[in-house]
Amino acid sequence: MNNPINCERCFSLTVQNGKSKLCQKCQKIDNAWLEIVLDYLRKRENRTATIVQVLNATLVNEEWIYDWVRQGKILQRHFPNIGLPCPKCGENLTDGVSLCPSCSGSFVKGLEEVKEIEGLQGDKHTATYFKRNE
Ligand SMILES: [Zn+2]
Ligand SMILES: [Zn+2]
Repeated sequence: MNNPINCERCFSLTVQNGKSKLCQKCQKIDNAWLEIVLDYLRKRENRTATIVQVLNATLVNEEWIYDWVRQGKILQRHFPNIGLPCPKCGENLTDGVSLCPSCSGSFVKGLEEVKEIEGLQGDKHTATYFKRNE
């Protein structure tokens, strides 16, 4: 039951409390930071904030955000741009996937999407180009 463990953050000896691998002191700090981050994300204009924006705004530890996402304390379906990094390439992952599209084998599909986007941009460029020469 109450396994003695080393706190994941300060390494002091503590007793495991539920799923948490933090001592009481670090858990308190963790909760406080989580509140700061959630307060930021709950603002309407910040719903689509990226990890970088959250880091800049709250000065929280990047790894902690990933912990909260893994623990379900930050729900990706609520905040679509808060994702875990792909373990292979570090690309931001969307809800429920463990590898980014380029690493998970749907590489070709990804390429086609890129082509499509490039195609669209290409058309736009051409349109502007012709307009300028009229
Ligand atoms: Zn600790
Ligand atoms: Zn990847």
